[in-house]
Amino acid sequence: MRRKISIFGSTGSIGQNTVSLIQAQGGRDAYDVVALSGARNIPLLAEQARTLGARIAVTSEPSRLKDLRAALEGSGVEAAAGPDALEDAAAEPADWAMIAIVGAAGLVPGLRAAESGATVALANKESLVCAGDLFLRTCAANGARLLPVDSEHSAIFQALNGEKQEEVDRIILTASGGPFRDWSREAMARATPAQAIAHPNWDMGQRISIDSASMFNKALEVIEAHVLFDLPPSCIEVIVHPQSIIHSLVGFRDGSIMAHLGPADMRGAIGYALNWPDRRVLPIERLDLAALARLDFSAPDEERFPALRIAHDVMEMGGLAGAIFNAAKETALDGFLAGRIGFLDMSALVEHVTQTLGRDAAACGADYALGEVLEADALARAAGLAWMKCDVGA
Ligand code: NAD
Ligand code: MG
Repeated sequence: MRRKISIFGSTGSIGQNTVSLIQAQGGRDAYDVVALSGARNIPLLAEQARTLGARIAVTSEPSRLKDLRAALEGSGVEAAAGPDALEDAAAEPADWAMIAIVGAAGLVPGLRAAESGATVALANKESLVCAGDLFLRTCAANGARLLPVDSEHSAIFQALNGEKQEEVDRIILTASGGPFRDWSREAMARATPAQAIAHPNWDMGQRISIDSASMFNKALEVIEAHVLFDLPPSCIEVIVHPQSIIHSLVGFRDGSIMAHLGPADMRGAIGYALNWPDRRVLPIERLDLAALARLDFSAPDEERFPALRIAHDVMEMGGLAGAIFNAAKETALDGFLAGRIGFLDMSALVEHVTQTLGRDAAACGADYALGEVLEADALARAAGLAWMKCDVGA
């Protein structure tokens, strides 16, 4: 059966890998591509839309509509622009939708895809951090299947295959430790964006690479796991594993641990979500365990990486504390990229905003609406900007 598919954020790192896998699996001859979306890279978006024969191509930036129209001239692909057009494209019926937009901007398109009843392959972990309860509720109400794409969560999802939830003891998320794994606090305080982007193992978008260096990525992932796998915070652990070969582990009540291994190549997790519940041949390297020879592990250092501690506070608070946390983190990251604050100031800002606004935002419990998520997000961004002005004088 030909499947109708859409890819939101198709021009990014996950999006391009998704397009390449779809191409490898027959491209437009095998799939009906409904919609693709990007932001600024119009030439790439147009090229992808032409190659895959997409029905609609959307840029999130209204000012780029003219360029997109010009680039799609004569192709038969409909061009659209702006957040509303993106929302409409996500609401178009599809069997499978990849949400690979970065940041809280991925939330609304993801919800619209879930409302359409599509199988949602979710790379955008921020949606689950900001509004996990709303996302799960929306999927359940519309019969939408949610498939994790984050490598750790795909690993856990695979390790849980055929297992009983009540027999799960704990989840162990692996973290590479990023480029600053062995740096001193003093050196980290002086780290530049270019140093933070240079991830040792994974080739990813700029923002997630910096989040990996600060371990905010792992903090988001701990919350993501809490939402996806319905386990209390005390059952979610993080272990530093510099080789990034074990993508995560599940511990069961009999003491057994199931680990998922593979090369550090996102096409593994994307391909699993694309072909689920089947497995197809994927163009990824096969592991040579003898050549690897060893796998190392160590406990994360919460002194240099406070993000994990903050994530635990956020989970304990519940409600919309995650929306506060994520927006504060995005604001801090913008400040760091713009040279307004230092690397370690990011966690100071996030901790301050989360402690100041988190409890109030948590008061709604699990029963909140999208409008409240967006309000919490805006509040935290304003508080983050205010912190930058006062505490750093930036
Ligand atoms: P990226 O920056 O490479 O790509 C982001 C995509 O989102 C691009 O298509 C961009 O045009 C689009 N975009 C950016 N801002 C937007 C906005 N405001 N509105 C609409 N679209 C916008 O990011 P990425 O590394 O591919 O990551 C995408 C998502 O997947 C993130 O949530 C990330 O945490 C998650 N993820 C990525 C990886 C990875 O290996 N890259 C691994 C696991 C999870
Ligand atoms: Mg991950």
